[in-house]
Amino acid sequence: MTADLFEFSLVKKRFAVIGNPVAHSKSPEIHQIFAQQCNIVLDYQAIHVDHGGFAQALRNLQARGFAGINITVPYKQNAAEQVDSISKRARVANAVNTIKFEDDGSMYGDNTDGEGLLRDLEKNLCQSICDSKILVVGAGGAARGILEPILAAKPEMVAITNRTAKRGISISNEFLQYGPVSWQSFDQVSELSFDIVVNATSASLTGDIPNLPNQIFAPGSLAYDMGYGEQSTPFIIWAKKQGAARTANGLGMLVEQAASSFKLWHQVEPDTGAALLAICPNRMQS
Ligand code: NDP
Repeated sequence: MTADLFEFSLVKKRFAVIGNPVAHSKSPEIHQIFAQQCNIVLDYQAIHVDHGGFAQALRNLQARGFAGINITVPYKQNAAEQVDSISKRARVANAVNTIKFEDDGSMYGDNTDGEGLLRDLEKNLCQSICDSKILVVGAGGAARGILEPILAAKPEMVAITNRTAKRGISISNEFLQYGPVSWQSFDQVSELSFDIVVNATSASLTGDIPNLPNQIFAPGSLAYDMGYGEQSTPFIIWAKKQGAARTANGLGMLVEQAASSFKLWHQVEPDTGAALLAICPNRMQS
């Protein structure tokens, strides 16, 4: 090995996104785009973790010298239990999507999902949240990350609905202290209409859609699927049929939340507009 190569192998930091499933993740591609923009050399992998193996996987990656980890479905709440210190927003969410392995051997947890969604809605999609009626579908780690930031942007109301009522009711009660949020069953949702409907379920990963009633989209409304794929997601296809005026997949959020993780790890802000264009040139059509 030449001296240059030896030095390169020492400084190339390692990162990963871990989840189940995770093979579909575009995070490795996004972090490499950011790294090129910022002249940083890094390794970023997508690593599948079997159910029940999350805590051990985290310790293994730390022992192998990884510098940071993103966490995806379904482990964000598990991650919040594993970290030694936690940001305020991750504590409020009780969900962690970004871990930094500190030099002293401790783990710091953050949650960049809410910031990512808000930046995508307000900056990329020019969608105002203030005074709007919002439906959040889902009550998992992703929903937990976005609720407080959405409520802080002063919507008229936020309704939460979820396949499993118990989980939906629990999250609604938990976040009531941050603003006007209420639990609505799928049936109750049919009495309402919304300016923004956010699909924060993992249904798209299995080609499903949440069992929502028809006619929930107000005139001019946006249907936002946190999921994404090469083609339109089932939720977006359904929303267009139901009269949503605009639709967007979760790639913009993915890029924006990745930028916040990147900044935590590398102390530089990448260009998210260029990255989004590179991974999804025709986003609003998909
Ligand atoms: P969790 O496993 O924590 O939660 C999954 C949620 O989806 C639960 O509310 C679950 O309902 C619901 N769900 C799953 N399958 C179905 C179905 N077939 N019909 C109706 N509801 C269903 O996952 P996360 O919250 O971490 O992630 C949710 C999704 O958001 C994932 O697809 C993830 O990739 C995406 N995501 C995208 C981001 C982005 O940047 N674009 C960022 C973060 C997440 P129940 O409680 O009944 O089980």
